[in-house]
Amino acid sequence: MASSPPVLTPEEADHFRERLGQEATRLRGMLTSLERGLDSPDQDANEDRSAAMDEDAAAELTAQEQYGSQARDIAHSLQMVERALERLEAGTYGRCSDCGQAIPMARLEFLPTAERCVACEGRRETSHRR
Ligand SMILES: [Zn+2]
Repeated sequence: MASSPPVLTPEEADHFRERLGQEATRLRGMLTSLERGLDSPDQDANEDRSAAMDEDAAAELTAQEQYGSQARDIAHSLQMVERALERLEAGTYGRCSDCGQAIPMARLEFLPTAERCVACEGRRETSHRR
């Protein structure tokens, strides 16, 4: 298979570049505020830590766990957005990474980070589940 022409018109590429750029900015902002939310109570608690250790430690662990899973989700989404932007630059955006078919525009509008067409995505999900 020779290198296939880009799926998107330059206008469409611009449209998705803008959407994905906005999404990346939003996700980075969320990560930053999550980090801030975790940092500030931590610094105050550092001074008289020995006193009410049990409750504090428990509360902190929960916050950290929550932070961890939220941050992981956001970081994962950010990664998807960044990969989509890379594909956009490479001219492979909008083409299924499994079968090479063009991904329908409606799917991209709904899910701009989609890497695969519906059929291939479905196949992957079923094989993941086993
Ligand atoms: Zn496919």
